[in-house]
Amino acid sequence: MAQSHPLILRLLASSAVAAGRAGKIIRDIMSRGELGIVEKGKNDLQTEADRSAQRCIIASLSQQFPSLTIIGEEEPSHCEVPSDWIVTDLDQEILSKRCPNEYLEVSDKDVVVWVDPLDGTSEYAQGLLDHVTVLVGVSVKGKAVGGVIHQPYHNYQIQKDTNGRTIWGLVGLGVGGFEPASPPSNKFIVTTTRSHSDGIVQKALDALNPDEILRVGGAGHKVMLLIEGKAHAYVFASKGCKKWDTCAPEAVLTACGGKLTNIFGENYDYSKDVEYPNKKGVFATAKGIDHGSLVKKIPEEVLNALS
Ligand code: AMP
Ligand code: MG
Ligand code: MG
Repeated sequence: MAQSHPLILRLLASSAVAAGRAGKIIRDIMSRGELGIVEKGKNDLQTEADRSAQRCIIASLSQQFPSLTIIGEEEPSHCEVPSDWIVTDLDQEILSKRCPNEYLEVSDKDVVVWVDPLDGTSEYAQGLLDHVTVLVGVSVKGKAVGGVIHQPYHNYQIQKDTNGRTIWGLVGLGVGGFEPASPPSNKFIVTTTRSHSDGIVQKALDALNPDEILRVGGAGHKVMLLIEGKAHAYVFASKGCKKWDTCAPEAVLTACGGKLTNIFGENYDYSKDVEYPNKKGVFATAKGIDHGSLVKKIPEEVLNALS
């Protein structure tokens, strides 16, 4: 490995390749049709794709960065990982970038990697394949700064043999893998959950009075809608999302000029000892949207329910 490159670039470059490999595992399991669904909790599924994709990503990153803290959504598995699931290539485009000065001295102990091997599992199991993403988020001293969002089924309806698409971002450097776009100026579009809604989630949406609500799966997919100009805000007034759902999306969105906080407008902490649930919900806005003014519209009743 090119050890001469700063850790943050090597880590993002490896994460991009590992997420792509995980995406192929996810597609292969769906093609075989053996999803092996397990219920982890109420309205919370896990499939063989979630388990295998996590083993691929964690084995690949651990081999290259043995002393790094990596936290994955799924329980660790002690089964041997097939050798072709362990990838140690680096994404050359990411590696070729000039590392912002603020990361030059970052070392292993400053970093936590948050892995959601398959975000949007309910949608995957229901065949809504373009809602699925693979998320690898990199936090430095508790801040979400680097992220990879891989879409294993990007364009799959047009291109049957798709290899998906990999988006990456590093705050202070920028983004790659797609063309950022701004949402329309003549209407206000909010995206939210399609499978984890309740009365409080809906009250937060009503208070924002959107012209349109896009109910889609996955935190990764919803942040993609923000950075591709398809929605202005992502609002989820519920404690259901976890740190692995928001770390990579927050980093990519921030690198694009947007913002992701809880519904009180406060940043989440992604240090290694934090609790996993994002108990104060998710409030994210695209570049150019006044995050603070929108957060102020959230009613007391919703804030009280999440405090
Ligand atoms: P959604 O927007 O509903 O697709 O959720 C985004 C992410 O948060 C997905 O990984 C979901 O599995 C997770 N999530 C949201 N709400 C819940 C919940 N009530 N229970 C378990 N996971 C949830
Ligand atoms: Mg998830
Ligand atoms: Mg997941």
